[in-house]
Amino acid sequence: MLKLAVFLLCVLPLASAGGLANKVLLFPQKTDNSYVKITPEKPLNLTAFTLCMRVATELQGKREVILFVYRMPEVDELNVWIEKDRTIGLYLGSSSAGVRFHLPPLSTFRTHLCFTWSSSTGLAAAWMNGQRIIYQKYKKGLTIRSGGTVVLGQDPDSRLGGFNAEQCFVGEIGDVNLWDQVLTAKEIQGLYSQSTSVKVPNVINWRTAVYAIIPGSIVEVVDF
Ligand code: CA
Ligand code: CA
Repeated sequence: MLKLAVFLLCVLPLASAGGLANKVLLFPQKTDNSYVKITPEKPLNLTAFTLCMRVATELQGKREVILFVYRMPEVDELNVWIEKDRTIGLYLGSSSAGVRFHLPPLSTFRTHLCFTWSSSTGLAAAWMNGQRIIYQKYKKGLTIRSGGTVVLGQDPDSRLGGFNAEQCFVGEIGDVNLWDQVLTAKEIQGLYSQSTSVKVPNVINWRTAVYAIIPGSIVEVVDF
């Protein structure tokens, strides 16, 4: 019985129902195994979304850096990357043919990033510190499918494996929130400035999110 308890402690993720209000996740160094799973409030079955996060990283080299993953068993369904050329890539429905946004490079100072997309218009946009950059047309008519897993820190190339240390996230990430609609410019500016009247995130809510730090991960939950 004791052996079973020890075994379970070793293999079960450390889950917390307490949410991450005023906290960030610190990925202090490069690994090929450290990641955090986030349980969404409801299945991601999306024809529009707003995805936001606050990110700081000291990684400046020419490599890809994963910022957000929603992984289906077979494909990356909704991924956000820092690309090798330092543009930011949003990929829907596949890990090829993403849309690239030319933003000022992320740095060790915390940056507020949002991405909005609507299937009905096909308009995709990136927002940095409350400011939108030019719209691009991307994947009009697509639906983001339910049944996947939200992962921070690594890019899976199989359901929850196939990690590559040269693609991992290193730095601090927090306020990862997801809505099933495109928020307005005023709302996104309110998120950046941490206004209290902002719409509660209804797909991923960082303040209340159930999350799991995978055993063996060198991830720390630290104060904002
Ligand atoms: Ca990969
Ligand atoms: Ca992948």
